Amino acid sequence: MLLLAALLGSAAPLAAETQVITAARMVDVLTGRMVAAPVVVVNDGRIIAAGPAGSIAVPAGARAIDLGDLTILPGLIDMHVHLTSDPRLGGDRQLRYVRSFQAVIGVAHAAQTLAAGFTTVRNVGSDGYDDLALKQGIEGGYVPGPRIVAATHAMGATGGHCDTNQYPAEFDFPRPGIADGPDAIRGKVRELHRRGAEVIKFCATGGVFSSGTSLGAQQYSQAEMDALVAEAHMLGMKVAAHAHGNSGINSALRAGVDTIEHASFADSTSFELARKSGAWFSMDIYNDDYILAEGAKNGVPEENLAKEREVGLKQRQTFQAAHKAGVKMVFGSDAGVYPHGQNARQFAKMTEWGMTPLEAIQAATVNAGEALGRSADVGAIAVGRFADIIAVRGDPLADVSILLSVPVVIKGGNLVKDTR
Ligand SMILES: [Zn+2]
Repeated sequence: MLLLAALLGSAAPLAAETQVITAARMVDVLTGRMVAAPVVVVNDGRIIAAGPAGSIAVPAGARAIDLGDLTILPGLIDMHVHLTSDPRLGGDRQLRYVRSFQAVIGVAHAAQTLAAGFTTVRNVGSDGYDDLALKQGIEGGYVPGPRIVAATHAMGATGGHCDTNQYPAEFDFPRPGIADGPDAIRGKVRELHRRGAEVIKFCATGGVFSSGTSLGAQQYSQAEMDALVAEAHMLGMKVAAHAHGNSGINSALRAGVDTIEHASFADSTSFELARKSGAWFSMDIYNDDYILAEGAKNGVPEENLAKEREVGLKQRQTFQAAHKAGVKMVFGSDAGVYPHGQNARQFAKMTEWGMTPLEAIQAATVNAGEALGRSADVGAIAVGRFADIIAVRGDPLADVSILLSVPVVIKGGNLVKDTR
């Protein structure tokens, strides 16, 4: 049964003790090897030793968590989620709810995400600082959920993908992340940073779920992107660029963004720019299946479904080409446009389109930790990092789809799920 309730009010006492976790196998994402009979020693929520049995001194009096014949691997990281969105509320359906409804459903989605083995997520856009509220609730032990890296409001141009375009002026919904021109953009980056944003997300091109935008069209000028990225980096924040069309992708890469989200029409110039700058691609190549199967039922307007049909297959082909060209990849699912807790469905798509299971797992662990600038904390079962560990039945390096079923989740040394 779920032990998520164990988190409520008791996170600190549980994590403070020393634990010894043992299992049959461990995926070492740093070396790419499977380690037999691993021992992981945890103190105060962090890993203080990890390696094969015999190589690790087990401290006396430590609490044992023996995971038997399971395989352990690092807690998974999804670099692109929208915890406060429900895919079933397409089109205008969301207007039936009060603003704070989004924060409430975010609580449920955070729990589903953690139970699916995702112990860290980057939330790339929500309204009203709901992602910060979720983060505060989770870190305070009020509700279960993953570690959240919050973008707060997505930034973008007036009339662009991150604006609200489908209503007449009488029913205007001002979006607080909208800013135009280098100076206003710098000011907006500073404002979001002051309010608690840890990463800046902006819309470099049109997108699927907006009205009146075309996927290929660039929406910030080079000068605007340059200003945004320079300001964010000066403040110590990474930048995630939503970008489908290649001119927007390439401008964002020239500006020095850290991750390209979607990257659907990236071309060989984009691959070269990404290799040079060290930017990561975060390509959501599963959700097309869900959107096309369920979108109409969910109230998604035909205008948006038509754009998804234009982009779905092309994005998968680009993923394959980018991977082959040596572009660095992280795992980003865009959960929120499909149901939360099903994040891991994307793993099988990644192997279907050219990755090995190990590469797909590395995209969701060590690579993501690095792209977040959080390698000291997350992304591997290694000394110093948080004891964020999941366990699965079987060998995920042989069949990555077994990550769809995660019976054990440990976050910061706390056993938050155990359905063995
Ligand atoms: Zn998104």
